[in-house]
Amino acid sequence: MAFADYPVHTLMTITTRPDLVFVEGQGSWMTDQNGKRYLDFLQGWAVNCLGHSAPVMIDALNAQARKIINPSPAFYNEPMVKLAELLTQNSCFDKVFFANSGAEANEGAIKLARKWGRKNKSGAYQIITFDHSFHGRTLATMSASGKAGWDTIFAPQVPGFPKAILNDIASVEALITDETVAVMLEPVQGEGGVIPATREFMQQLRALTKAKNILLIVDEVQTGCGRCGSLFAYQLSGIQPDIMTLGKGIGGGVPLAALLSTEAVACFEPGDQGGTYNGNPLMTAVGHAVMSTLLEPEFLPGVLARGEHLRTRMLALCSEFGLEGERGEGLLRALQLGRDIGPQLVEAARELNPQGLLLNSPRPALLRFMPALNISFEEIDEMTEMLRGLLKKHA
Ligand SMILES: *Cc1c(COP(=O)(O)O)cnc(C)c1O
Repeated sequence: MAFADYPVHTLMTITTRPDLVFVEGQGSWMTDQNGKRYLDFLQGWAVNCLGHSAPVMIDALNAQARKIINPSPAFYNEPMVKLAELLTQNSCFDKVFFANSGAEANEGAIKLARKWGRKNKSGAYQIITFDHSFHGRTLATMSASGKAGWDTIFAPQVPGFPKAILNDIASVEALITDETVAVMLEPVQGEGGVIPATREFMQQLRALTKAKNILLIVDEVQTGCGRCGSLFAYQLSGIQPDIMTLGKGIGGGVPLAALLSTEAVACFEPGDQGGTYNGNPLMTAVGHAVMSTLLEPEFLPGVLARGEHLRTRMLALCSEFGLEGERGEGLLRALQLGRDIGPQLVEAARELNPQGLLLNSPRPALLRFMPALNISFEEIDEMTEMLRGLLKKHA
C-alpha cells in the first residue's frame, strides 16, 4: 500500500512522524510499507531488548493467550506471581506492583513515597528531582521531570518537585527541608542526553538520604533490565535504593512496567493503588520470558561486550572526524558530535538506500544508540559504516 493511501490524518498529532508505515520487524531490522529495510538502533526507544518479534516473546504470548488473558486485577494469576518472584530474587527489593507504562510506575513511586512520608515523616511530601531528568508524561511525572518548558506547558504543575543538579551533592543538600520525603533520579539520564550519574554521586546520595531518613528512588525505566550491562543500573554503583521503577525493557515491547520497593517502604493499603490491567497475565508472562532470557548466564556479559564494541567503533569515528566524544553505560550510549548536526544525520540515515538506518538525536549535538541487547557485532559494524558514510557528507 502506498503511504498516501493510509488515513494517517485520523490520528492526533503528538509528534512529527516521517511518511512511513512500519509493517514488519525481525531482530534488529524493520521493514516499511514499500519493503525497504532499516537497521534499528531505536528499538522502540530502548524497549525491544530482545529485538523485534523475539521467538521467546511470541511463544509466551501464544501460550498465555490460550490459557487465560484477563482474570481481573482483583485475583492473583500465575505469571504475575512468577515475575514478581523473579524480580525480587534478583534485586534488593521485596515487593512489586505491576503497571502498564513507565509514567504509571513513576506515579506509583511518587504516591508510595508520599504515603510513607505521611506515615513516617509527619506528612513530608517533597521529592527532589533533577534538571534535564525525564520521568514521564502524566501531570505528576511531567512536574517531576526537569525538561525545559515543562513547568509551564500544562500549568499549574503538581507541586513538590524541587530540582537539583545531577552529580552535585551540595545542590541536593541545599534543597532538603522537613518536607522532603525522597530523592528520585535516573542512574543515567536517558532523554536528557545519556548523562550518567557518577558512582561517587550515587554513593553520596545514598549516604545523604540515609542520614536524613529520606527515600532514594531510582527511575530505571530506561536504564534497567540489562540496558546498562548489569540487570539494573543501580547495581553499577554498589548501592541499594528504597524504590525502583521499571518499564521499557521489562516487557521487551509489550506494555508492562513495575514499581518495586523494600519491605519497610511497601506501605500501600487496600484502595491506595490499582488499575484495570495491572499484573495482567498476558503481559507479565511476556515479562517473565524476557527477564528469564536476560538472566541466562551469558546474556549480560554479552551486553557489556557489545557496548564495548560500539564504544570502540564510535571512538574511531571521533578521531576520524574530530568529534567530541562518546559516553554511556552498556548499550545505552551516545556520540557527542560537537556540532548541531544530530537531527540532520537522523533524517539522512533514514533516507539511505537501499537500506535505511534508524537513529535518535535527543539533543542537536548528540546521537543516542539504544539497539537490541542481542544485536550482532556485525550489525554494530554495519551501523558504523553507514554512519561513517553520512559523517563524510555532513560532518
Ligand atoms: C521512557 C521513560 C519514562 C516514561 O515511560 P512511559 O512508558 O513512556 O510512560 C519514564 N522514565 C524514564 C527514565 C524513561 O526513559
